[in-house]
Amino acid sequence: RILEANLTPVWGETGIGVVAVLHDITAIRHLEQMRTEFVANVSHELKTPVTSLRGFAETLLDGAAEDPEMRREFLEIIHHESLRLERLIGDLLDLSKIESRKVRLNLEEVRADDLIQRTVRTIEKQIRQEELDLHLELEKSFTVRVDQDRFSQILINLLSNAMSYTPAGGSITLSAGKEEKQWWVQVADTGIGIPEEDQPRIFERFYRVDKARSRESGGTGLGLAIVKHLVEAHHGSIHLESRPGEGTCFTLYFPL
Ligand code: ADP
Repeated sequence: RILEANLTPVWGETGIGVVAVLHDITAIRHLEQMRTEFVANVSHELKTPVTSLRGFAETLLDGAAEDPEMRREFLEIIHHESLRLERLIGDLLDLSKIESRKVRLNLEEVRADDLIQRTVRTIEKQIRQEELDLHLELEKSFTVRVDQDRFSQILINLLSNAMSYTPAGGSITLSAGKEEKQWWVQVADTGIGIPEEDQPRIFERFYRVDKARSRESGGTGLGLAIVKHLVEAHHGSIHLESRPGEGTCFTLYFPL
């Protein structure tokens, strides 16, 4: 606990004394520390792609542009890094909007299997390109009340992760169903898994099990933080089961 003391001298009949008022400022300090850490993380995350952009642009200006092969290779890196930077900035803006509760959900009644299938169509090709099998096990004809764009964003984040952390030849299973008072949707993969000690932390902003791998796959480290906020905005909850070397399964529950 961190206590702050305000001391006031008092003069009484029996002599001089001090009145001490103690304030518990643990929570304030903790918030301050989290804010400082977040700013440091953001700066670091932004600096890495910018340094790389600058380095490759300078090398091109210094003469590498004369060589057509090098020129192409470096321009591709610059393009790739700027896309990642754009994604990172987009995720940061999105997260700050969601966290400050400026996001208004546009709730609509929709058939769950339709919405899920529509979302899957936008990412299916990429999944096949990564040589992964995709299985859909969707209970038909039940209606849910969600913000369709935000729900798709949740699913795409989970599916992109399943894709990034599952080696070629593996599979992803997306299922959904309804119970009496709730409905659920699950994304399971046969990928690298998440060590038990990291599991409680992966929903934190910028927490990654393997930084290099996340960067390589174009990750921003913010995907799951966004997912968790959006699920909670829908009054839902998210559960994780994972075993290193076997796979990972995220299950979301929403009230009906
Ligand atoms: P990133 O952009 O790094 O993927 P996320 O917030 O989406 O950031 O995920 C945080 C971390 O959780 C990832 O860096 C990865 O280590 C781990 N992770 C997320 N999903 C999976 C998965 N399906 N399989 C294995 N690890 C995962």
